[in-house]
Amino acid sequence: MNRKSLIVVLLALISVVFIVACGSDDDATTTTTTPTDGGGDTATLHAAFSEFDTTNVTIMLNGSNVEIESNGRPNHTSPYWSNTTARMGTPAAAEDHPLFVAPTVTSFEDMAPGNIDDFNGSYSLTVSANPTLASNSSATGLGAIGIAVSGGMIYNDEEGPNVPLDNAVGSLDYTAAHTGPQSYHYHLEPKAWSDDDEKLIGIIADGFFLYGRKCNSTGTYPTDLDASGGHASTTQHTDETEYHYHIQNELYLNAYYILFPGNYQGTASSVQ
Ligand SMILES: [Zn+2]
Ligand SMILES: [Zn+2]
Repeated sequence: MNRKSLIVVLLALISVVFIVACGSDDDATTTTTTPTDGGGDTATLHAAFSEFDTTNVTIMLNGSNVEIESNGRPNHTSPYWSNTTARMGTPAAAEDHPLFVAPTVTSFEDMAPGNIDDFNGSYSLTVSANPTLASNSSATGLGAIGIAVSGGMIYNDEEGPNVPLDNAVGSLDYTAAHTGPQSYHYHLEPKAWSDDDEKLIGIIADGFFLYGRKCNSTGTYPTDLDASGGHASTTQHTDETEYHYHIQNELYLNAYYILFPGNYQGTASSVQ
């Protein structure tokens, strides 16, 4: 090898080393400057999870999944906490629970049987830390379809097999939730913490977050929602565009807003 060839080979080697060094530098920068967006190969816990009540809800990152567990109890007042008034199917308690409030939009006569603190189980949901849209949407079912930031469960717009929600609206409390057949759950915009705003409502079983009727990206009602109330934009929890749902700003029974009447747009796990 003559001297000229040697120089060419050396220069090539130096270039390769330089490119490799730059490449790994970029990776390091990406992982350290975006700790909460869940992007890239490293799973991180999304910033929105910090909104969940830490007494009622436990959130753990396990590999590329997030495990969410709730005791099924909300962190706010309700007439559905145990109290000293007996109603149909529900005996009186010795004393009022500290979070009990008298029914306002419903009544003891109209309330569903069972109190919040009668429930002694738990709910768990495991979703991807980086959920993606499915090629086809899928229908939600009866029972929990998501977990709210309060600790209560999110239900769809059906009350039971062939029982439309219209028949059960009278038993909903001031924050559009009631008990039965299992635990306390929301069907409509939960006024206890969200009323015509951009607040985080909870997480849907496909791993996407559900927000209030307004979007942080514009400060008003989104106009580009799909059939499930979803779209991609920034939120108060991420500077990167990501898919999320909203409560749709469409009146139900001239007074309410249904939480999640559409299909899952991602791949849903079961809340169990
Ligand atoms: Zn219900
Ligand atoms: Zn939005």
